[in-house]
Amino acid sequence: MRLKGKTCVVTAAGQGIGAATARAFAREGASVWATDVDAEKLRPLSEVNGVRTRKLDVMDKQAINALARESGAVDVLFNCAGFVHHGTVLDATDDQWQFAFNLNVRSMFWTIQAFLPGMLEKGSGSIVNMSSAASSVKGAALRFIYGTTKAAVIGLTKSVAVDYVGKGIRCNAICPGTVQTPSLDERIATLGGGAEAKQFFMQRQPTGRFGSSEEIAALAVYLASDESAFTTGTVNVIDGGWSV
Ligand code: NAD
Repeated sequence: MRLKGKTCVVTAAGQGIGAATARAFAREGASVWATDVDAEKLRPLSEVNGVRTRKLDVMDKQAINALARESGAVDVLFNCAGFVHHGTVLDATDDQWQFAFNLNVRSMFWTIQAFLPGMLEKGSGSIVNMSSAASSVKGAALRFIYGTTKAAVIGLTKSVAVDYVGKGIRCNAICPGTVQTPSLDERIATLGGGAEAKQFFMQRQPTGRFGSSEEIAALAVYLASDESAFTTGTVNVIDGGWSV
C-alpha cells in the first residue's frame, strides 16, 4: 500500500489516464476525490473502494475552491484535465487558443492556488501535472496550440517546484507519448477513422504500439508516493521512445 493514509484529488478522472490513476491511487490505499466535468463518466468509479466522486469543471474557479473547502487539506493533487486541438499556427483560432490555455494551463494555476495552502499547513504535498511529450520536449506535427500549452505546464511545474521545495512540497510533470484513451479514438475518428488516420499517430511510436493509461497511472503513483521524496521539478517523459 504505497499511498496508505494519503488523500488525493484527481481532475478529469472520468476516463482515460485520469480514471486509471484514480483507480491506481485507491488500490494503493489512498482516499481519492475523483472529479470530472461529466458526472456520468464518474459513475463506475463511485463503486470503487476508497473513491469519492464529484462533478468538477476545472474552468470554474468557484467550484475548485468549493471542492478544496469540502476535502480539507490533501496530500496529492493530480492535474490531469487537458484538450488537444489539431493543426498548425495558421489553422489556429483565437477561441481555440483561449480555450486550450484556460483548460490545459489556467486550471492548474487555480487548483494549485486552492490546494497548496492545505499542503503547506501539513508541511508536505505532491502535485503532479499532466503535460505531454508534445511540448517543449518535442515538436509534434499539427499540435501548435496543444504543444504550446503543454510546454507552459512544464514552466508552471518548475516554478511551483522551486518556490516550495523548502516547504515539503513537490511538483512534477508527466509527459506521455500517444496513449490509448477514448479521446485518442475520437482524434483518429476525426481524421477519417481509417488505417491512415491511425497511422498518423502510430508512426510517432517507434515501439509500434500506443501506451496504456495504466502505464501512465503507475508513474503517477510513484510521483504521488513518498518513494519519490527526492524528486521535484522534473519532466517525466513516458513516451515509448517517441522523443528519443
Ligand atoms: P481523455 O481526453 O480521454 O478524457 C478527458 C477527460 O477530461 C474526460 O473525462 C472529460 O470529461 C474531462 N474533462 C474535459 N473538460 C473538463 C473540464 N473542463 N473539467 C474537468 N474535466 C474535464 O483523457 P486522456 O486522453 O487520458 O488525457 C488526459 C490528459 O493526458 C490530458 O491532459 C491530455 O492532454 C494528456 N495526454 C494524453 C495523451 C494521450 O495520448 N491520450 C498523451 C499525452 C498527454
